[in-house]
Amino acid sequence: MRIGYGEDAHRLVEGRPLWIGGVAVPSDRGAEAHSDGDALLHALTDAVLSALGLGDIGMHFPNDAAVNRGRASSEFLSHALELARERDLAVRQVSAVVILDRPKLGPAREAILARLSDLLGLSPDMIGLTFKTSEGLAPDHVQARAMVWLD
Ligand SMILES: [Zn+2]
Repeated sequence: MRIGYGEDAHRLVEGRPLWIGGVAVPSDRGAEAHSDGDALLHALTDAVLSALGLGDIGMHFPNDAAVNRGRASSEFLSHALELARERDLAVRQVSAVVILDRPKLGPAREAILARLSDLLGLSPDMIGLTFKTSEGLAPDHVQARAMVWLD
């Protein structure tokens, strides 16, 4: 059994899509990033890599590599899950937090859960997803934290 933790943050800027957990959430701002800037998938990917003792997302997908520009973050997570599979491990449970002041993520909860369930090959009831605001402390950022259990 292995446990991993990851976290991520991106600045929000106008003219970018807002990707959360593999879902494009309607928003007038999105994450400034080399990839699609999906903070939740980045935190999850780092959590899986951390559980495996295999470094972090930046080691596997350098953000100065042209091949990673605009890349779907689901590919990063899929890569980490493949590394787990090679070690006869699979994600059994996820606990994750997204911190974002606006837009409110509640309306997107079901879509995000469904997408995460699909990406992780995990029943939705094994995915704990908490949405928080920063209470105005970080209104221009999206942040995510994730803990994973692999077995
Ligand atoms: Zn990121």
